[in-house]
Amino acid sequence: IVNWCPFHKTALSDEEVKHAEKQGNFWYIYYPMTEGDGSITVATTRPETMLGDTAIAVSPQDERYKHLVGKTVQLPILNRTLPIITDDFVDAKFGTGAVKVTPAHDPNDFEIGRRHDLPYVVVIDESGKMTAEAGALFEGLDRFECRNKLVAELEKRGLLEKTENHTYSIGICYRCSTVIEPLLSDQWFLKMAPLAEKAIKAVKKGEITFYPKKWEKDFFYWMENIRDWCISRQLWWGHRVPVWYCKTCGEIIASPENPVHCRKCNSNTLKQDEDVLDTWFSSWLWPFSTLNWPKNTPEMKYFYPTSVLVSGYDILFFWIARMIMAGLWFTGKKPFNSVYITGMIKDELGRIMTKSLGNGIDPLEMVEKYGADAVRYSLIALSTEGQDIKLSRQKFEMGRNFANKIWNAYRFLKMKESEVTPHGSDVTESGTIEDLSDRWILSRLHSTWRTAFEKFNQFKLNEALNAIYNFLWHDYCDWYVEILKDRLNGRNSEASASLMNVALPTFKKTMEMLHPFMPFITEEIWQNIAPHGAESIMITNPGNYSEGFIAAQSEKDMMLIQQIIYSVRNVRGEMNVPPAKKAQLIIKCSKMDKLEVIRKHLDYIFRLSGIEKVDMGPDMVKPPQSATVVIPEMEIYIPLAGLINIEEEHKRLSKEVARLKNQIRSIKSNLSNKEFLKKAPANVVEKEHEKLDTFAGNVEKLQNNLIALEEQ
Ligand SMILES: [Zn+2]
Ligand SMILES: [Zn+2]
Repeated sequence: IVNWCPFHKTALSDEEVKHAEKQGNFWYIYYPMTEGDGSITVATTRPETMLGDTAIAVSPQDERYKHLVGKTVQLPILNRTLPIITDDFVDAKFGTGAVKVTPAHDPNDFEIGRRHDLPYVVVIDESGKMTAEAGALFEGLDRFECRNKLVAELEKRGLLEKTENHTYSIGICYRCSTVIEPLLSDQWFLKMAPLAEKAIKAVKKGEITFYPKKWEKDFFYWMENIRDWCISRQLWWGHRVPVWYCKTCGEIIASPENPVHCRKCNSNTLKQDEDVLDTWFSSWLWPFSTLNWPKNTPEMKYFYPTSVLVSGYDILFFWIARMIMAGLWFTGKKPFNSVYITGMIKDELGRIMTKSLGNGIDPLEMVEKYGADAVRYSLIALSTEGQDIKLSRQKFEMGRNFANKIWNAYRFLKMKESEVTPHGSDVTESGTIEDLSDRWILSRLHSTWRTAFEKFNQFKLNEALNAIYNFLWHDYCDWYVEILKDRLNGRNSEASASLMNVALPTFKKTMEMLHPFMPFITEEIWQNIAPHGAESIMITNPGNYSEGFIAAQSEKDMMLIQQIIYSVRNVRGEMNVPPAKKAQLIIKCSKMDKLEVIRKHLDYIFRLSGIEKVDMGPDMVKPPQSATVVIPEMEIYIPLAGLINIEEEHKRLSKEVARLKNQIRSIKSNLSNKEFLKKAPANVVEKEHEKLDTFAGNVEKLQNNLIALEEQ
């Protein structure tokens, strides 16, 4: 018995059958006793198959039917005489305890038929239509038309006891969703257990590793529950089954070469099987059949086993597990070292993209609109290790914005490069570098490089990309280039050297790291900044990061400077300080080393936070009407008098506080309203709570600012 798709008219493997819940019926049908009165009631979800019944079976332990065993019943309508038999397979507690046996149309009944030597009556053909065996009344009808007509006929004849609603699982074709019909059919099967055993061993021993590792569990589940594989298909396209039949003596010959003579009777009346192999049977040979196996070609030696196989989890069993089994069985070697399982791309609501839903996104359209690098960047950035991606068109904007950022950084370097006389060479040691921002950016470069390298090795591609993104956007563009601009404005030769020996090489190295993620923009930039006639960036060797450049102290010092600049910028924003107004800074801190770091880098602070004067020391006092920022071991005061119109700012802040308090009141009233809570979806309620927290935080901040303004 095989799984048969009446639409595709082919057998399917067990794994190609999908399962669906279906609302159907249980029909209770009387089978009258051949002799005397009485009947046996049998329940079925597929009444049309009763036309192929060849017995009624009960459990040997079932007392209710003991006296009937060995007697016969009449099959309704067709009036075939059916024996009543006992079989251990029958569950006395299920249905009426008596089951109809249809050996040609049910896998379990097939086995019962074998045990009891029952006839096999085929009533449904390969296109799902009723055969002549089904009787004149039903011959030629579709199986479901037959079902309706048969039930009506049983009812008319008083042979239907009752009908019950019943939800059950049906098998459907994985390609066309047609209801699978179990059919009696000659097919080729492959015995899989010995192959699975080798595959299990290889993965258990760590010869093949899954990323993410959780998929190994699924792999083992499939392998440990493997069933024989129905590999023949009644289709036109595919590898033809390599089996020949001798018309003279009936010998069956399986052979890799086309045989000419029968090995038994030597006749030449051989005919090849007309079936083809399951598509997956061809696919599982892919890792070595593409390399001209079984010949031991140079390609085979070089490429087999390969390093990584990348695939979606939906074909973990169909393809990946089978390639592992085939490789180990036929070549004696695993086909690959690592399996990287990606997530699936779904729509914003988490639904699979399908034609019928019309929720697909055409990648070519996105490439046209945002650029190929942007599309590639966004997809990788969104793919958290093996998890599905909820995708929308807007998500590609991230990639485009990043590409623009990279291009602008490149243009800045190119422009500045033309202004300075090239001299010096790449820095080889961190210790010799004078400027903190230079030491810092090189340290960040090498630690980013280290992170990206580690993440690459763990197949955490989005984390590798994220590290490079943060480095390039925030460390390099937001901080380093801003500081460098200022240094170059001073036109000192030291800054020119930094441009040529630190800024450019750092950017070039970043392009190399970024190349696998954004191949086009990085190649274009590479060709423009690499020495004339350079090879493609694709074949450069980025080499390895150097621990010598990773300088914890420089990163700590720079972070302190960044914190100060960041806090001043914050205060300026919150207090509405006009950008042109230069502020004053008072820093109270008793740590001499920190004060020393600040003193040495006042230039950075002046330039990047609009400060013109800094007073600092352990005994500084907070002046009246100044904003306060606290960072570890340090208090920073910014006097506001002279920067802003205190009276107006006080009014503005008071108004803002009043507005926020109003909002808070209205949210609170919503959240205490039972009607609202009942009707609003959970995520809306959650959003309201979040808003409440944010507004309350803002009110507190603004009130502190108000207090600062009120101080005398
Ligand atoms: Zn089908
Ligand atoms: Zn022969």
